[in-house]
Amino acid sequence: MSIPGGRSSHDVTAVQTAARVIELVRDLGECADSRQVLVTAGRHYRQLFGDFNVAALLLEIDRPGHWMALALESPYTPSWGGIAHHQLPKMTDIDEIVKRLGKDVSERLVTDPVLRPRLVDAHDPHWCCDNLVAVRLTALLGSPCRSYMVIPWRRPQDPDGWLLLGYSESRVIGDDALDLFATVGQVTSRLSMYPALVNYIARTEKVNLSLRRNLVHDLKTPLTVIHGYAETLVHEEVIEDKEMRAECVAGIIDSCDRLLGDLKDILEPMQSDWRPQYAEFNVSTLIQRVVQAERHTERSQHHKVTMEGTDIPLMVEGDPRKFRRVLENMLSNAVKYSPGSGKTVHVSLTHDNLAFTVAVKDEGIGMNEIQLARVMNDAGRVVDEELGIEGSGFGLESVRLVVEAHKGHLTAKSAPGRGSTFSVTMPRHRPV
Ligand code: ADP
Repeated sequence: MSIPGGRSSHDVTAVQTAARVIELVRDLGECADSRQVLVTAGRHYRQLFGDFNVAALLLEIDRPGHWMALALESPYTPSWGGIAHHQLPKMTDIDEIVKRLGKDVSERLVTDPVLRPRLVDAHDPHWCCDNLVAVRLTALLGSPCRSYMVIPWRRPQDPDGWLLLGYSESRVIGDDALDLFATVGQVTSRLSMYPALVNYIARTEKVNLSLRRNLVHDLKTPLTVIHGYAETLVHEEVIEDKEMRAECVAGIIDSCDRLLGDLKDILEPMQSDWRPQYAEFNVSTLIQRVVQAERHTERSQHHKVTMEGTDIPLMVEGDPRKFRRVLENMLSNAVKYSPGSGKTVHVSLTHDNLAFTVAVKDEGIGMNEIQLARVMNDAGRVVDEELGIEGSGFGLESVRLVVEAHKGHLTAKSAPGRGSTFSVTMPRHRPV
């Protein structure tokens, strides 16, 4: 068929498709975070490839053979149990989203005789319809689909993966459609890196700033002590008094050791190759010590700090120095974010054979759902500046890093004006 101007309908379709791809590139370029990339790409794919039932990412995360699947819910059909777009956190990286929200399908995928050659061993785009592959993919992703288009999801330096579109009806997918999907999928995977990079840089800057603030704060006390001893040392009567001199020098050495220890505690957990220094310790005693120390601080003078479950010894394996920091952080936050007087902060210890949980409950300002999600996922502060509560927004991030390095997890509940409870659950024994 010809249309005025001499263009065939085929040309018109090609021009329209090209225009849509350009629009996709432009829209993806404007995305500020990974969630927007996934939502925007999904919207364009729907225009280009018709109404799919599921869009899914299947990525090999962390180590070879460890596959995670993230099935995205279609905004047009009732949920089949995937992740809805609005549930996607604004994380810096799509891999991170898949890692946190995806389902671990490693064993099923790696041992599956039908899917393995298609998804683990091969790297070429393909499609399937009403055959065993489609049935297995449906089972793997949990979405009722009869046909799929599958293309590689590749980014420089990142592990391999697949991007899938699944349709509830049988479809024969032409080579042109598969080629086009491979191209726009590749564009999407590349462009999805940019918001991640920008956010990464912003986050690094933020961490950098908080680190400097933390360092200044942590260095001030021991440096003041060292300064005091040094000043005393230059007095003539001290120079002549051997015992006093020895005391001052011992004080300086002690403060220097503490300083070096503090520096290590702050910096180490941020290094990707950091591993906890495991030792056996009594977590009940550790909590008692941290609570005692907190009760003596100025900020706790108008608060009551209570304990429960710490009167019997509980031996656990972990890094006691770093765990102490975790407790100090949770406890100081609980007091700090409960301005006023007469408030109680309650620390409880519970355990079973495998794990123990320390929960720190306060009656402070609390947070709404969105604020809580932000501090738990994005690292940062959500506190109203007018309250004048100082902080770096980095403490909780370092708590999470330490807890996760022990294969434990950090959880929190909170309600505005009614307080928060932060809990860490850790294995009692060193994971093998
Ligand atoms: P800070 O910002 O004081 O250094 P963190 O980095 O430990 O604190 O925590 C990150 C943010 O989480 C805080 O800035 C605050 O907004 C919120 N937060 C942490 N603990 C509490 C709490 N117990 N109550 C209310 N908000 C809290």
